[in-house]
Amino acid sequence: MDLEFSAEDEAYRAKLKVWLAENLGGGKGSVNELMKSATEGGNKDPLAGARVWPRKLWEAGYVGLAWPKAYGGQDASFTEQVICAEELAKARTPPMINTIGLSIIGPTLVQHGTEEQKKRFLPRILRADDLWCQGFSEPEAGSDLASLRCRAELDGDSFVVTGQKVWTSLAPISDWMFLLTRSDPDAPKREGISYLLCDMKTPGITVRPLRNAAGGMHFSEVFLDQVRIPRENLVGELHGGWKIARSSLDHERSGLSGVLALEETLGRLWRMASQIDRGGEKAVEGPTTRRLLAQHWIEIEGLRHLGYRTLSDQIAGAAPGAGSSVGKLFASDLRSRMARTGLRIEGPLAQVAKRSPHVIDRGRWHAAYFDALGHAIGGGTSEIMRGVIAEKVLGLPRATED
Ligand SMILES: Cc1cc2nc3c(=O)[nH]c(=O)nc-3n(C[C@H](O)[C@H](O)[C@H](O)COP(=O)(O)OP(=O)(O)OC[C@H]3O[C@@H](n4cnc5c(N)ncnc54)[C@H](O)[C@@H]3O)c2cc1C
Repeated sequence: MDLEFSAEDEAYRAKLKVWLAENLGGGKGSVNELMKSATEGGNKDPLAGARVWPRKLWEAGYVGLAWPKAYGGQDASFTEQVICAEELAKARTPPMINTIGLSIIGPTLVQHGTEEQKKRFLPRILRADDLWCQGFSEPEAGSDLASLRCRAELDGDSFVVTGQKVWTSLAPISDWMFLLTRSDPDAPKREGISYLLCDMKTPGITVRPLRNAAGGMHFSEVFLDQVRIPRENLVGELHGGWKIARSSLDHERSGLSGVLALEETLGRLWRMASQIDRGGEKAVEGPTTRRLLAQHWIEIEGLRHLGYRTLSDQIAGAAPGAGSSVGKLFASDLRSRMARTGLRIEGPLAQVAKRSPHVIDRGRWHAAYFDALGHAIGGGTSEIMRGVIAEKVLGLPRATED
């Protein structure tokens, strides 16, 4: 494993930094100005402002770096992809509204889609023309995903799909959903699943937003009643969707370690601790706070190097495998402990409501604590990650057979 970036890589980084400096900020032609003008003048698309940044980034060649040029990607190296992610995080750029497309279904289609599917969907994901949601979980099928029951029956040239999905992030604003369906109820449970792509405007779909413990409405229930999905929207083989689902989950988990976001969180903790007075000294001078911040720094560095290891594997041609579960597990635990450090630095004022004049850091750590609970569940729970690591990474025998 070589941890140094090459001279070409560093030149690429320098060019990107210049581009970011020229395009962020508040001046004429800046992203902020473009986002503002996109939402003015009666634009019918409520997400027009949110699409500005992903589009600008794509036009400049900084999205879909590892995807083939034929489908709007850059055919760039994984190293450039990592440099790009690092610099974008450091520059605190606007959010990417098309993340699920870019990080889960896009890479899945690059790997398993038909030529028509790649041409049709990949460029639209890159340009944030289409937003996607993930219809995997069901009320009785979360960790045990292969128990899913949403039924797909072939009828001529289309599947007729009836069932329910749950915890579907961003469903109300999504144009498309990739979903797992039970296409052969008589086959063993992993052999009767088909992976489909569904236009969210198809008749028979009802989306009902759910409120989470932190008060947000990030995910929804999705009901499908006799929804017709053309057969050409099948990914992979008929009844062969489990293999494709595994690949999607590996891509999802490899994107969830979020080392750059954790680094940003550590900076915020440090800044808050440098401002809060504790009996005549700043909180950051207290030994417990210093020890916790140093520990978090060490763990983030560990996670970063774990990411570089995955990167080395990807450069060598491997798709992200079960090893991505290690990063996902470690990062969600660290995220939770960092939120608790934030609450601890705030002291008793951590309990103050967001809108109170006494609130510290706009109640960020309170929200971060609840968000961290969700991160330890979404994309596969921590218990499931431990099972995957035991079996697939350490080669231990399965705990139970099913
Ligand atoms: C923020 C967030 C966003 C999400 N977004 C999406 C989305 O966009 N699309 C989507 O399809 N799903 C999404 N999910 C759903 C998520 O994938 C499931 O919640 C998750 O897989 C767990 O399933 P479950 O909720 O049914 O819990 P269950 O599977 O019922 O698990 C309950 C508890 O039992 C434990 N458990 C279960 N089986 C085992 C086992 N074999 N060994 C040890 N412990 C076990 C679990 O770890 C957990 O603690 C999201 C969830 C969250 C929190």
